[in-house]
Amino acid sequence: MSIQVRNVQKQFGDFVALNDVSLDFAEGELTALLGPSGCGKTTLLRIIAGLERADSGQVVLSGQDASATHVRQRNVGFVFQHYALFKHMTVFENVAFGLRVKPRAERPSEAKIQEKVKSLLQLVQLDWLGDRYPSQLSGGQRQRIALARALAVEPRVLLLDEPFGALDAKVRKELRRWLRRLHDELHVTSVFVTHDQEEALEVADQVVLMNKGTVEQFGTPEAVYNHPATPFVFGFLGNVNLFHGRLEVGDSGGLLHTGDSVLPVIGSGHETAGDAVAYVRPHDLDLERYAPGTDGIAVTLRRALTLGPVAQLELEREDNQDVIEVALPLERFRHQGFREGELLAVRPRQLRVFNRGQAVQEQGAST
Ligand code: ATP
Repeated sequence: MSIQVRNVQKQFGDFVALNDVSLDFAEGELTALLGPSGCGKTTLLRIIAGLERADSGQVVLSGQDASATHVRQRNVGFVFQHYALFKHMTVFENVAFGLRVKPRAERPSEAKIQEKVKSLLQLVQLDWLGDRYPSQLSGGQRQRIALARALAVEPRVLLLDEPFGALDAKVRKELRRWLRRLHDELHVTSVFVTHDQEEALEVADQVVLMNKGTVEQFGTPEAVYNHPATPFVFGFLGNVNLFHGRLEVGDSGGLLHTGDSVLPVIGSGHETAGDAVAYVRPHDLDLERYAPGTDGIAVTLRRALTLGPVAQLELEREDNQDVIEVALPLERFRHQGFREGELLAVRPRQLRVFNRGQAVQEQGAST
């Protein structure tokens, strides 16, 4: 089932939780709603589910306006962060629950229920736990049972609100790989809420970046990470260095004058000359020994963290004492033999520039 959200607006009192949100979720895709706490992810999920009503706008399910359709008729399955399985029921009965409470005319026979629950428990790879009670399960097992329970009624849409939020990092990682594999098997249109960038980028087909009740960007993990549409997205997805300066726009591209340096930039073509902020990720910066006349920004290497395959370097600009972070493959760092205290030159391989008004506004919005 495809989901379209059209111009959805939602206020709680004076507070605007969703501001004119429009999104298209394609049939069979797994989409992550990603953003900082309070940006409206859960509210949007609840509106799609029919648990909450939008003040205006529409939710269209499979081409039909579902705004007036009751949650029970929408055929959605839910999994929440603290999903309360029924404590007094076995795992088997928990999964069977949705089938047993169906109206008599739609209820499957007992034999069918037995068969269905067994196959669901196999699907979530916990068929050996059917006789246990929820208190006898680990957190990760409980969430898998919660998922089996949501799938029992064959929902056309699966909505997951921070499904692995309460679990420790290692279990989370296992479960998200497992969710991806499960989704590849079932292809149920699924939307999950997370505030964990890595989780969204690793698991989802599409990522919706939300900020203060609006959509900043909607695209594949590759697109949002490598081509952030806004300063907010740049800053939210991974580390980033900011270079403040003045942009000069010429026929063959832009030049950023920052401190004592002039750097070539790539831009969307919409930037105008004037105050600007350039964004560059730590792994998109090159380093070499400084010599008079070298291109790039003169810096002193303050600290080198050499754990793992990448050296994380903290550098201080000579002209304005700003800190720049650079990530270099450890082998290259060792080969170059850079030492703490040494004078080096930093050169961006790519530098994305936003006009200052936009950058300030969006950074403000992200804090
Ligand atoms: P989190 O990651 O912290 O769960 P979220 O992005 O899911 O955040 P929402 O739960 O959608 O955010 O909430 C968006 C905003 O709306 C928050 O500022 C929240 O305080 C507010 N809000 C949500 N529900 C209500 C409500 N019933 N009454 C008043 N304000 C609400």
